[in-house]
Amino acid sequence: MPPDRRAERQAALRQAIGGEGLDALLVTHLPNIRYLTGFSGSAAVLLVREDTTVLISDFRYAEQAPAEVGGAAIVEIDQRSVWERLGRVLAAQPTGRIGIESHSLTVRDAERLSGLTRTAVAPTTDLVERLRAMKSPEEVAAIRSAAGLAQDALAEVLPGIRVGQTEVEIGALLEGALRRRGSEWHPFPTIVASGARSALPHARTSQKAVAAGDLLLLDFGAQVDGYCADLTRTVVVGARADDRQRTVHELVQTAQRRAIEHLRPGMPAREGDALARDVITSRGFGDAFGHSLGHGLGLEVHEAPRLAPTSEAPLPPHAVVTVEPGVYFPGWGGIRLEDDVYLGPTGTERLSDGRTELLELV
Ligand code: ZN
Ligand code: ZN
Repeated sequence: MPPDRRAERQAALRQAIGGEGLDALLVTHLPNIRYLTGFSGSAAVLLVREDTTVLISDFRYAEQAPAEVGGAAIVEIDQRSVWERLGRVLAAQPTGRIGIESHSLTVRDAERLSGLTRTAVAPTTDLVERLRAMKSPEEVAAIRSAAGLAQDALAEVLPGIRVGQTEVEIGALLEGALRRRGSEWHPFPTIVASGARSALPHARTSQKAVAAGDLLLLDFGAQVDGYCADLTRTVVVGARADDRQRTVHELVQTAQRRAIEHLRPGMPAREGDALARDVITSRGFGDAFGHSLGHGLGLEVHEAPRLAPTSEAPLPPHAVVTVEPGVYFPGWGGIRLEDDVYLGPTGTERLSDGRTELLELV
């Protein structure tokens, strides 16, 4: 059995709550609730106070919530309304200033909460997310498993890809392989983009058929024990790569390798992003790399830290991030390569296989 981290996570959160001058935090963002209690359902609020942690859910989770949460929180199930029950919990034990998660609670629910409590409600930012950014060994292992599963699914599907198949067909083959290998779900809509469509960094997989000589960009994820992996590979279908495809691919690969090699915890995120961006900019293609280098991975596929040119925040130790430079030319296509990396105290460790060589599926 892996160690149960929930008590230490809640203790660290209580410290953060106290540090904000608050007496409690109402956690409403579901991945945060899962991190703190193990509850994986779709409806709950969690009240973390100095001495107690109370999870309130509804009748659909009357069995699941106590089973998943165990001793990590007091579980209350309300047949009618989670919010009414929260009102009763607060009335039974008056609580001072209550923090809310401002990125998660709607204005309507914040007003509801103000109506339920006679004390002040204060917005907070990322109190739980900051803890989640620093992964335990078990969390890193789950992401490594998810990445392994994802790359095995891709290896299974690539040899069967042919000119004339549609992006949707290829997506279905890949998603089928991911599920058969045990991915709990697709953490985001699989991107299969061919030809000029590969220049759209967030392309929607379409009915376009793959043509000979097309770039084919596959951006896909897997999930194990709730933890996400996120990979991108770009290949050439039905022909040898031409000179331009080869040149752009080599540039993106060089940029990605440099970033993976030199990323360190403590480095400002902006500097991490620059490790790859400088390579691309120095060759005159800076404008063709229009997104951030990467993002944190964990219970969510996009979480802290952001590996962005605008972020001064130091990269936390034990973070897991994607490294995904891309170069895109409208009308021609794009090449992106994405691997998942753990920022360990003594260096970076790739969690995915880093097999980014230019594959020509002929
Ligand atoms: Zn991705
Ligand atoms: Zn990504």
